[in-house]
Amino acid sequence: MFTPDMIIESQELPPIGTNAFALIEPSLKECVIIDAPAEAYDWAVQIAQEHGCSIVALILTHGHWDHILDGHKFATAGIPTYGHRDDSEMFASPSKMASYAVPGLELIEVPIRHWIGGGDQLDLLGTNMEIRHVPGHCPGNVLVYLAREQAAIVGDVIFAGSVGRYDLPGGDFSVLEKSIKTQVYTLPDDTAIYPGHGPATSVAREKAHNPFVKG
Ligand SMILES: [Zn+2]
Repeated sequence: MFTPDMIIESQELPPIGTNAFALIEPSLKECVIIDAPAEAYDWAVQIAQEHGCSIVALILTHGHWDHILDGHKFATAGIPTYGHRDDSEMFASPSKMASYAVPGLELIEVPIRHWIGGGDQLDLLGTNMEIRHVPGHCPGNVLVYLAREQAAIVGDVIFAGSVGRYDLPGGDFSVLEKSIKTQVYTLPDDTAIYPGHGPATSVAREKAHNPFVKG
């Protein structure tokens, strides 16, 4: 009998402490990686080996340089990449973000195989992954909602007790606030939130305590 027992692992990675996530489904021997900071590829390969899994997808929550640095390595390895079209310029020409990045980094294009958007339902790891479009931090931020696992991997739209920067190109606080109210706070209260930086939180906790956007 199929018994769902997905494991969610995270790792804070260089150069500025960006979280990468591995969704692991042992019964299928498959895993999905979300976001690709520096060293994410080696980390993902190690996780896959530990669990005897193959990596079936890399989903990028958005196109900011610190989330996509290792993306080209996944693409070169033939792993299907997913991202939102509104960040296509950053995926295609990450060097345009060089003035916002740590100096001296090599910013390499990430070819996106699958463009995803709000309302998409991805059938991966034997579960339903709902994509929600949450712009405001940048135009193409998406979150991945796993209803069965009661978890959402959200990129930089919201953090524990904070929200994503909205002063970068393409950022806008009113858009961010609307994304949080209509796409994050509408998730069930007991949904765990896994942000792109810092610790995990929950929908209930942010609705009650987030000082920037009240629930
Ligand atoms: Zn970002």
